[in-house]
Amino acid sequence: MRVISLGGGVQSTVMCLLAEQNEFGVKPDYAIFADTRWEPSSVYDNIEWLRSQVSFPIVTTSNGRSLRDDVINGVNAQGNPWMTLPVFLTERNGEPAGINWRQCTKNYKLDPIRRKVQELLGVKPRQSISTETHIEMWLGITTDEAMRVKPSRNWWISHRYPLIDDIPMDRDECKEWFDALYPERELTRSACVGCPFRSSSSWLDIRANEPDMYEEAVRIDAMFRSGEHNANRMFRKQAYLHYRRMPLEEAIELDHTEREVNGFNNECEGHCGL
Ligand code: SF4
Repeated sequence: MRVISLGGGVQSTVMCLLAEQNEFGVKPDYAIFADTRWEPSSVYDNIEWLRSQVSFPIVTTSNGRSLRDDVINGVNAQGNPWMTLPVFLTERNGEPAGINWRQCTKNYKLDPIRRKVQELLGVKPRQSISTETHIEMWLGITTDEAMRVKPSRNWWISHRYPLIDDIPMDRDECKEWFDALYPERELTRSACVGCPFRSSSSWLDIRANEPDMYEEAVRIDAMFRSGEHNANRMFRKQAYLHYRRMPLEEAIELDHTEREVNGFNNECEGHCGL
């Protein structure tokens, strides 16, 4: 079985459209979109549009929870008190104190996609995988993000990188290709509304296009450092959504000319931001 991991952003969308044109040989059997239930509406719109453009099924899955609700409630995907986002941390005296361990990608994207693949194979949750099983998972990593190429964590899944090995393209080339074919449409990086890996310019986009979601992100960011929120109560550090380690609303006003912050390069196996 061949499966596209579909984030709904620039690269995975272009990869789907190229696959539909048979540019990578045999078409994939499925594209799977893991919905964290905290994506901007532009991503959901794009997924729906893409369904009308490709002949293979686009399947939406999730872990049954809302990352937004879990972050607000200060719990992880098991409902236990925790902070799953890679928030930026300072000591109480303001000294930078690293980034929180990211669990959201695994719990809200990787695991739901793996479980959906098992379901599509007809494998029950605790059933072992046959040694004959081989899944080829296509990830939309481009040449400029090649450091994100990583082997699969599952022996029965192997990763394939069509935008590196078949038709090498960087992210800008993907955008140019798409803009030439679909000038009336716009693609953005797929990321949860409150993803700490947003650049200031990306936050400004959210503020302009999704004002309610932006206002909520500002409130959530402030919540991390106040009252009984678990990020404040448990960590003994201050947590911020913005990489400047400042309140979100202040940080994005400072400078939004920086190049895109791409913390996805750190550890993500190609399931976020594509
Ligand atoms: S887009 Fe950001 S917040 Fe969402 S799962 Fe990925 S790393 Fe986490």
